Amino acid sequence: MADIIRLLPDAVANQIAAGEVIQRPASVIKELMENSVDAGATHISVWVTDAGKTSIQVVDDGKGMSETDARLSFERHATSKITSPADLFNLRTMGFRGEALPSIAAVAQVEVKTRTSDDEIGTWLNVEASRITEQRPVACQVGTSFTVSNLFYNVPARRRFLKSNATELNNIMAEFERIALVHPDISFTLFRDDVQVLDLRPSSFRKRIVDVCGASYDKSLLPVQVDTSIIKIDGFVGTPESARTKGARQFFFVNGRFMRHPYFNRAIVTAFERLVPQDRQIPYFICFEVEPSRIDVNIHPTKTEIKFEDDHSIWQILLAAVREALGKFNAVPTIDFDRGEGPEIPGFSPNVVSTPPQVKVNPNYNPFEGTPSPNIRYDRQRAQVNKGWQELYSSLTQKDIRTSEKSNLALQDTNGASKLYSESSQEEQATWDREQALYIQHAGRYLVTSVKSGLMIIDIVRAHIRILYDRFMSQLTNCDGVSQGLLFTELIQISATQVPVFNMFMEQFKAVGFDISDLGGGSYAVNGAPAGTESLNPVSLLLEIFDGLLSRTGQPEDKIHHHIAITLAQKNAIKYGYVMTPEEMKTLVNDLFTSSSPNFAPDGKATLVIIPNDSIENRLK
Ligand code: ADP
Ligand code: MG
Repeated sequence: MADIIRLLPDAVANQIAAGEVIQRPASVIKELMENSVDAGATHISVWVTDAGKTSIQVVDDGKGMSETDARLSFERHATSKITSPADLFNLRTMGFRGEALPSIAAVAQVEVKTRTSDDEIGTWLNVEASRITEQRPVACQVGTSFTVSNLFYNVPARRRFLKSNATELNNIMAEFERIALVHPDISFTLFRDDVQVLDLRPSSFRKRIVDVCGASYDKSLLPVQVDTSIIKIDGFVGTPESARTKGARQFFFVNGRFMRHPYFNRAIVTAFERLVPQDRQIPYFICFEVEPSRIDVNIHPTKTEIKFEDDHSIWQILLAAVREALGKFNAVPTIDFDRGEGPEIPGFSPNVVSTPPQVKVNPNYNPFEGTPSPNIRYDRQRAQVNKGWQELYSSLTQKDIRTSEKSNLALQDTNGASKLYSESSQEEQATWDREQALYIQHAGRYLVTSVKSGLMIIDIVRAHIRILYDRFMSQLTNCDGVSQGLLFTELIQISATQVPVFNMFMEQFKAVGFDISDLGGGSYAVNGAPAGTESLNPVSLLLEIFDGLLSRTGQPEDKIHHHIAITLAQKNAIKYGYVMTPEEMKTLVNDLFTSSSPNFAPDGKATLVIIPNDSIENRLK
């Protein structure tokens, strides 16, 4: 038989390798930015068009490449960063595999412009499907500029699998943020579709955290520092007050590289034990410096887990360092001398039109008309129903009279179970009339009423969630949520890297009644909140919704709507133990049975059960 084994052509081999290294636009950003850091850049600019699907450009002022190196950089396993196996144990650079550029060039169109300080003139080259199609001299600055266009243009299956722009942009931001955070000495700018969204000047680590994650971090960072023979730890943990239920910013870096480390995360959680509730997350930004030989060098290009030789000792050191930071904080409150105690004034950006905050008053408001009792939460949320108090009172008296006339549930409760099935209540069940039916509240969480087939037990919280959920869903579809003006405008600060994603959801926030104006620089004024949410903090409500959305950016619109509506509904719903008035019970049941799906809460749990008559009879035999 003839020999059939053949070496794969480079273009094919590179495309296979690209499958691992380059998975999405964010992988390109990561590889190019890491190369710029390795090249000693002091300024790195990133341009992203169409969430990186159309083009990504990374420009640096690093050491550049010679004419030959520029060509060679696209060969597989071509690197300037290591030469011998021993170098693998002394890695100080982000790259070392020589895989990134050939992988990118296998699945996109790449242009490079580069010049070293030794050369008078730079070089320009164009690569397509792993082939250098053209190279010529060009006048340019010292440094390198890579433009990667039409990612996966030649691998349609992969291009189709790219997620929505919001998701891809969110991934890009996450990679950008990791590199920008751990290199505060480098300045970074980021342009999205030609609009500058970030401008990070060289600064201290603390200032960089504040620039990236928002001004609110300035007052909540506790320094963590320790230097031992096996590890040097430098960074910050948040104060216990800064803990959040989800979405806390948590970063570990080792030798300038972002890593995930659930085990070290436990050390921080342990240090905060008993200081914060168990379900809270503490923000942290921790940099480790170790001898490169003490960590596993074979770091996979797309994985972020890193193995340490002495992880047990490091765990103890980290725990002790965080505890010490907390101890100092309790003894002496930290004073940050970097900034004055003045108010936080968001940066001015000339292209943002901001509207002055407005206090909204209703000129027709008459305090003596139709205001339900302020301590009835359920009714307050239904303020728009606007029932006069007289009406409320009259229906109550009628019901009281009826209760005394007929023997039914309300009386049975006091008179004992044996009367549970009185004649009159059975008549009533034959045509269950929600208006006429009587409800009792049981154990603070159930409404019990009699229906034809048995005893119906309704879970008040789930029922209320179903009702509110339907209302918010309809507002999201029709964009007709009512906004309740806040007396005092609240400012929120969104992490600079999350601003583009936040803006993408602005329409939905407005649809449910958030009145938000963009002040620029990641600052937003919340002027109004959805009507009915008055008892909640509008800022935490908005942030909680946004945190949940961050992990849902790729999902279709109905999932996004579902998340917003369910969060609002759960937060706003009455709580177990709330004592309902008869009128409130009736409204709740009426609303439940006119909702889209009375039997189930939006999370799929049952809102009600009916204990069948025969099962009651059986038990009483
Ligand atoms: P690695 O980073 O693992 O060495 P890459 O494929 O990312 O592999 O890059 C190949 C080589 O190209 C690098 O070793 C470096 O010499 C050169 N190079 C890449 N990007 C730059 C840049 N921005 N500035 C200078 N040299 C670069
Ligand atoms: Mg590289």
